[in-house]
Amino acid sequence: MELDAGRKLGQALANIRRNLKAIMTSALNDIAASIRTIPDYPKPGVQFRDITTLLGNARAFRRTIDELVQPWAGAKVDQVAGIEARGFIIGGAVAHQLSAGFVPIRKKGKLPFDTVSMSYALEYGTDEMEMHVDAVGKGDRVILVDDLIATGGTAEGAVKLLRQRGAIVEAACFIIDLPELGGAAKLRALDVPVRTLVSFEGH
Ligand code: AMP
Repeated sequence: MELDAGRKLGQALANIRRNLKAIMTSALNDIAASIRTIPDYPKPGVQFRDITTLLGNARAFRRTIDELVQPWAGAKVDQVAGIEARGFIIGGAVAHQLSAGFVPIRKKGKLPFDTVSMSYALEYGTDEMEMHVDAVGKGDRVILVDDLIATGGTAEGAVKLLRQRGAIVEAACFIIDLPELGGAAKLRALDVPVRTLVSFEGH
């Protein structure tokens, strides 16, 4: 009798798990389908992953934010740092959901107060990003957000900038991963847990 009840409970739990997985897969498929790909933009060979179509789709936008914040529900997050410019849109929504502050990481020369800066690798050459000197405090728990991770040069620069000011980078979150370019692996090698929702082949 007890064995029977145990088996039934086990089966019910397995069913729930299967259903949850199917719901999650369908949500992630919806998110992937809402992203527009522009071939050869801004230059030949690049498949530009355009998230304006995701942002304009209320259901996909909501699901994206829900998925990104899900691991942090109930966790203590002080700040969400977003990388200019698409990271501001995603990061602002994530910060709101987590009741956290928002920190903009911007291109050089855009922030009005005293800044700290970090150079980072581009495909050809380097660039600089900046953050207000008082944007994060020592020991602040920060989640880094951008729309997409490719080579990881931009996110790596942002992690270094945050750590330089004493923040703890709890994780880096992106909607899109381009795994062939190795960015997520680069961040994990810096001991930053990485969360991405969908991945695309190529550049
Ligand atoms: P990376 O530093 O190589 O990881 O590049 C990441 C940054 O460049 C992000 O801010 C992305 O928005 C942008 N980016 C790089 N590749 C693409 C792409 N194929 N489609 C859209 N944005 C991209």
